Amino acid sequence: MAELIPVPFPALLRRLVAESRGEAKVFDLPARKFWKGSADLDLSVRFHGRTASNPVGPAAGPQDQMAQNIVLAWMAGSRILELKTVQINDRLTIPRPCIDATNVGYNVEWSQELRLEESLREYVTGSMLLDVVRAEGMLGRPTDAARDTTIFDMSVGYDLEGIRSLPVRSWIESMKDARRHVDELRGQIPQDLRRLRDLDYATALSDQITLSTFHGCPAGEIEGIVRFLLTEMGVHVTVKLNPTLLGRQAVDGLLHDVLGYEEIATRQEDFDKDLQWGQALEITDRLSELARSLGRRFQVKFSNTLVVRNHRQFFPSTEAVQYLSGQPLHVLTLNLVEKYRKARPDVPISFSAGVDNQNFPDCVALGFTPITTCTDLLRPGGYGRLPRYLERLEEGMRRVGARTIGDYVVKAAGNGAEAVRKTVTPGPLRDALVEALASPRADLKAILEGAGRGELYEAVVHAAALLNTPALVAKATADPRYRAPQNRAVPRRIGSRLWLFDCISCDKCVPVCPNDANFVYETGVHSAAYENYRVQAGAPVPVPGGVFEVKREHQIANFQDFCNDCGNCDTFCPEEGGPYVEKPRFFGSLDAWRRLRDRSGFFVLRADDVDAVWARIRGAEYHLEVDRASDRALFTDGVVKVELRHSERRPLSATARPEAPEGHTLDFSAYLNMALAVDGVLDARRANPVNAPYL
Ligand code: SF4
Ligand code: SF4
Repeated sequence: MAELIPVPFPALLRRLVAESRGEAKVFDLPARKFWKGSADLDLSVRFHGRTASNPVGPAAGPQDQMAQNIVLAWMAGSRILELKTVQINDRLTIPRPCIDATNVGYNVEWSQELRLEESLREYVTGSMLLDVVRAEGMLGRPTDAARDTTIFDMSVGYDLEGIRSLPVRSWIESMKDARRHVDELRGQIPQDLRRLRDLDYATALSDQITLSTFHGCPAGEIEGIVRFLLTEMGVHVTVKLNPTLLGRQAVDGLLHDVLGYEEIATRQEDFDKDLQWGQALEITDRLSELARSLGRRFQVKFSNTLVVRNHRQFFPSTEAVQYLSGQPLHVLTLNLVEKYRKARPDVPISFSAGVDNQNFPDCVALGFTPITTCTDLLRPGGYGRLPRYLERLEEGMRRVGARTIGDYVVKAAGNGAEAVRKTVTPGPLRDALVEALASPRADLKAILEGAGRGELYEAVVHAAALLNTPALVAKATADPRYRAPQNRAVPRRIGSRLWLFDCISCDKCVPVCPNDANFVYETGVHSAAYENYRVQAGAPVPVPGGVFEVKREHQIANFQDFCNDCGNCDTFCPEEGGPYVEKPRFFGSLDAWRRLRDRSGFFVLRADDVDAVWARIRGAEYHLEVDRASDRALFTDGVVKVELRHSERRPLSATARPEAPEGHTLDFSAYLNMALAVDGVLDARRANPVNAPYL
């Protein structure tokens, strides 16, 4: 199974600096996709008593498990990052592929695929890289507290025993106080970047947790975990609840009768095992009270994914169920929010379910904080889809004359006057507020503060969010864009098959990879006949090979250490075969190349003037050494060795080892594959994960 392997901090740092300076991009996200924000609008929100510069960020999922993911999500506009769930069982075997974002959105993946210690290092690394981004002005504007204040939200799972275990407890403590890890990484900053050693890196990374429990986790277990986190770990808590709370009849009714997804089948057992409605209300009451008594904060998150039968052929048939996300979950979850708000209107809600740029402003108008997204960022454009969320929100704010998120909630659905009437006692202040709402420049907060009643502002905003709920839920439920006919399209295939080089160069596979494992590099074009070497009477003899032809300069490669075989780049590639399977795969270490013997791929080591390359191609192993100063290369399959003038790809001589098997043939095209791919990825003009250590 593919495993994610974090790369050392200095290599990430070098790449970040090189790309930002030389290529106007960061981890392959081009500068035009960086979120800059508008200075005249204030998108800030409060989450668990802290300020974040806007309410959006990735849900605990594939977009925030590695350090580069955190940076990518942030550059594109995320200011509340729910880090991927960690748990005591950090040796998971996840079926592959594990993500199907073809149209609706299904997955069979769940928690962090890294070891606990690795996750911690990735999150600390991500936080430090963000400090570098801010300090070096990589967004293309000066750092600005109003637009760049960020919250890291931890996510832990899945049962009380695991969360109480010493490793998970010390993991949480280390996120609360990461000084030791920050200092360790600070010490690794290379000499030529020493100016970055003195930055004031954040060390208190997070004091809040979103709890993810198993589908089917008993009520007592959920409550026990939250109690433990609030009382013994001293953190604020959000508990993520399941869409099964809506009840099977309502879920099936919405899925089948309203939205038309007749092929999606739920199972009664999943509704029976999950938290029941009455239990959910009782435990949220008790936990809200407990948090209040401890001076901590508690809220709920709607929602987790929905367990449904695995009815497609995408995931292995060994998986009986899959987890639904995307468009249908958006409608289900909004309906669940409406039901919950009728019962418990005052519990703060964070939201995640089929969020995209079109529905994001309405999610804001519903008063959700944070609003997290996942499936949408797996589609073409990847993280680069996020700025549009915030642009559309800003457009909506300008349209209704709101300068702050609070004012937007009040004004977005025309419920401001009613919210004021519900919150402010009759009199001149109430009249002034209602009157001001008619003006596009109304500043309710200023009016309330001017009257010495500033504390009422939050109540007005909350009342408006509650009033907005029925209308905005009904609007989404009736919207054809969430229905089955609008969500059956599959990405176009053009019939051709990928191989190591050349393709239609659409570059879709780069941003759709949440881990930035695919990258663009350049080769020279090449077209020439070549000869193989066959052992005859103990000596290698040239024999006809074939024609090796690479027609394009623009190529795609894959960095194995960042690739977990999730399959998402294959979903959106117009050609057959999967970029992560067919394109040259580069390992980050010789150890990984040796360990994952079932995979083709390369490992490259550059030292002084010599590039050493280990390759496995169609099961055969090769070694290449290139002395760049003398332009000489030695290429061997362990039996026959060829000396070459490397820049001309021209053999000079060949030898065979003693007792070489008669008839053994060295495939010279393997050298051509290695030479083109390796020379291309090591080209320092384009930073990538392979050449990063040498930049
Ligand atoms: S590998 Fe596929 S997705 Fe990537 S650039 Fe080539 S054709 Fe496009
Ligand atoms: S390269 Fe493709 S298969 Fe690998 S992690 Fe990225 S999207 Fe998934």
